[in-house]
Amino acid sequence: MSISLPPEPCPPVPRRSTVRVRDQQVVIECPPWCVTAHEDASDALLDDVVHESAPTALSVPSSSSDQERVLIVRLVQWPFADQESDRRVSLSLEIAEDSDVVQLDASLASSVAKGMEEHAARLRKLAEVVTS
Ligand SMILES: [Zn+2]
Repeated sequence: MSISLPPEPCPPVPRRSTVRVRDQQVVIECPPWCVTAHEDASDALLDDVVHESAPTALSVPSSSSDQERVLIVRLVQWPFADQESDRRVSLSLEIAEDSDVVQLDASLASSVAKGMEEHAARLRKLAEVVTS
């Protein structure tokens, strides 16, 4: 009796992108989570190249629209930045789509997540008081 096994999955192939830097084509390697269309950007400096993941957000009811996206987070990395801290992968947090971005390291991201959980628990408690 023989058992046929599914083929081994291929290791993820790094995506290569071409970036325009001072009218030169530079090929860079993107991390698997990067969704940035580097080809569409016209970066003046290599330092400006930023890898970004797809955003994830909390949708909440809004007075101006059906739903507003808040607490928008995504992975970011400036692989060629002068500062070592910018070359590390971090999280960017936008409170709402038109607010300034705050960079979070792992510790701060965990702290914000804990605050969200605590806030959700308080919201559930308050919802128990609301009559339906
Ligand atoms: Zn990238």
